[in-house]
Amino acid sequence: MRILIISDIHANLTALEAVLSDAGDTDATWCLGDVIGYGPDPNECIQRIQQMPNLLCLIGNHDAAALNLIDISSFNPEAQQAVLWTQRQLAPANADYLRSLPERITTEHVSLAHGSPRYPIWEYILDTRTAAQNFSHFETSFCFVGHSHLPVIFQKNSSHQGTDLIVPEFPSLVEMKPRAIFNPGSVGQPRDRDPRAAYAIFDPETSTWETRRVEYDVPDVQARMTAANLPDRHIQRLSSGW
Ligand code: ZN
Repeated sequence: MRILIISDIHANLTALEAVLSDAGDTDATWCLGDVIGYGPDPNECIQRIQQMPNLLCLIGNHDAAALNLIDISSFNPEAQQAVLWTQRQLAPANADYLRSLPERITTEHVSLAHGSPRYPIWEYILDTRTAAQNFSHFETSFCFVGHSHLPVIFQKNSSHQGTDLIVPEFPSLVEMKPRAIFNPGSVGQPRDRDPRAAYAIFDPETSTWETRRVEYDVPDVQARMTAANLPDRHIQRLSSGW
């Protein structure tokens, strides 16, 4: 069984299409939130993911911001500008779809949250201390999160009772050992200095996590962002993946 794990598409349809064609046939898709925000294709990305077979999808902080569900005064001026642009673009039916998405989903073996199981919309799990605190906020063997745009695994270590941080190679096939928190990285705005779209394939039958990366036409996306007058810094960062 192959379950496609994607997160932080951020309205980048070119990156999303590259991931879908690179992944090939999958049995289900689990999307960990932030379908929109930053990028030039919010409506197209929302419509595209809804076509995926057996889709589970969470709401992320940028999705909530575009729906006016959260106060964006703490966002920096460029991020605010991108949110306001996205709000103007969003078709009512697509806004309704985002509004229907949950903050958390629990499957048989895996809990899903955009940021963290403790604070699903906002918390970044960037270090082992935060990860360790989050293990008591889900009961399944595994938890999948996005939000930081950094592909990483936080593994509970039974020998020293601590939590290990593992930065996986690309591509690699990781044998999943309970309990652990997995982040597939970002499809549409990677921040680990690798501009390629990041995603994962989860196989619940063999308990494996396959890390994958795919190149996409970055200048094509940047041209659409320039035409839409989106902030220059958001356009530039796609070239280097930060
Ligand atoms: Zn994001």
